[in-house]
Amino acid sequence: MTSIDAADLKRMFDAIAMAIEADKDRLCQLDGVIGDADHGIAMALGFGAVRDALAPLDLAAIEPTALLNTAAKSFLNAVGASSGPLYATAFMRGAVAVKGKANLAGADVIALFQAMAQGIQDRGKAEIGEKTMVDAWLPAAQAAAATHAAGKTLSESLAAAVEAAERGAEATKDMVAAKGRSSRLGERSLGHMDPGAASAVTVISAIRKSLA
Ligand code: ADP
Ligand code: MG
Repeated sequence: MTSIDAADLKRMFDAIAMAIEADKDRLCQLDGVIGDADHGIAMALGFGAVRDALAPLDLAAIEPTALLNTAAKSFLNAVGASSGPLYATAFMRGAVAVKGKANLAGADVIALFQAMAQGIQDRGKAEIGEKTMVDAWLPAAQAAAATHAAGKTLSESLAAAVEAAERGAEATKDMVAAKGRSSRLGERSLGHMDPGAASAVTVISAIRKSLA
């Protein structure tokens, strides 16, 4: 029986920060092709700030909701790029989804994951096919929910999420950007992976590895 508490979520954020730091240069390179080359820096700053904000917390005394709200606030304050409010909204919506729970069962983690993806979509108003991080996050959340609803474990559900995110990120190569900075390129954005979708795969993979 899965049970995820505040300490597990802190470990998850630490794992994301490490994975993003290791991926920083690739993400900046991808953003350099169709954006302003700062996406790796923005994500590393954001998750680094989250790691630093969570470090002093008394994990025995704090619930997942408060931890996620701390993550949201520190990410937003650290990141000036468009990914700042998008991920901050993800964590804030995740906080609402698990309100009042000290320990999260598998279904709660799936609900948290879905709320994060929905938060990103609501904040940025991007639809599938517009070449953004939504093209990775939304199918990932749908795959996680469908796999869990079919009776699979949290670990299997998050593995399905990673696969769906990878397919979604790959598919952004064939899309024309319709949202964000790269939409100014129009057809010239074709053939290149969206950096936000690429970093979403890194984030979701780290989530899977740390919670599974
Ligand atoms: P900026 O474009 O301000 O430099 P970043 O480089 O940090 O911000 O992030 C760029 C990524 O943000 C894009 O690759 C895309 O995935 C994502 N993005 C931009 N606008 C939106 C939006 N409206 N909805 C969802 N994602 C978006
Ligand atoms: Mg950028």
